[in-house]
Amino acid sequence: MTGLAAIAVPVGRLYGRVLGWVIACAARIVGDRRKPLGPARTLGVVVGVHIVVLSIWMGPPALIAGLVSATVTAIVVGRTVTWRTLTADELALARTVFGDDADWLGRVVVTDLSGMNGRAFTVPGIDGRVYCNLGDRFTQLAAGPTGPGAEANSAATRLLVHELAHAAQIAYAPSASAFLGEAAALQVRYSLGENVYAVTPLAGSGARLNLEQQATAVDTWFAHRRKPGGPPTSDPAAAVLAAWHSGRSASGSRPPRSGV
Ligand SMILES: [Zn+2]
Repeated sequence: MTGLAAIAVPVGRLYGRVLGWVIACAARIVGDRRKPLGPARTLGVVVGVHIVVLSIWMGPPALIAGLVSATVTAIVVGRTVTWRTLTADELALARTVFGDDADWLGRVVVTDLSGMNGRAFTVPGIDGRVYCNLGDRFTQLAAGPTGPGAEANSAATRLLVHELAHAAQIAYAPSASAFLGEAAALQVRYSLGENVYAVTPLAGSGARLNLEQQATAVDTWFAHRRKPGGPPTSDPAAAVLAAWHSGRSASGSRPPRSGV
């Protein structure tokens, strides 16, 4: 680990943990998963808290600045971000990957929001839902698996499976804070040039699959599968999916010796 990474990665992890703690606290106050609230309030809370932290030197006015920013963000997101729950077809497909008893799929919301550089990301919401933000791929999901746009649809579906794997991680994580801490640390490592997505044959070294390797293992197996059913035990996705099928976090899963 470089000197920069030695500082930036723990800072990223701490940032993610605090963000997860804020979301969990807000969920206790306003959360109600029976009412789909959408991504507006979650993003409003996240932006508002950032503004409070950045302007805390101003004293009490920082709270007003945070409140105003949160409200404006919620209004803008409410007007510009498109979102929906999974369609019946998407749910059926997701169950072939994550299992019939993956009840957490009912809490998933997909949106056209994207992160830095248009990248997709998945986060827990303050309404008890999980937001898979797919960016441009969101509209391509509607194209259907055949006919015009089928190729874009298949790439979008693979991305959906990847982000749903993150939703599974959130469902089985000890807390939102634990998930976001690890996810943020990985994104810092990625932005510093490390390929945190590569699923390499690590068995025997004691290394474990990180959150991105887990999601990549699952979307890679999904993209290449030729028939319904789970992955062969030789596939790195097998241990990950087996953990989730039994209601456990897959962190700590090891790829098999023949892993790719
Ligand atoms: Zn990912």
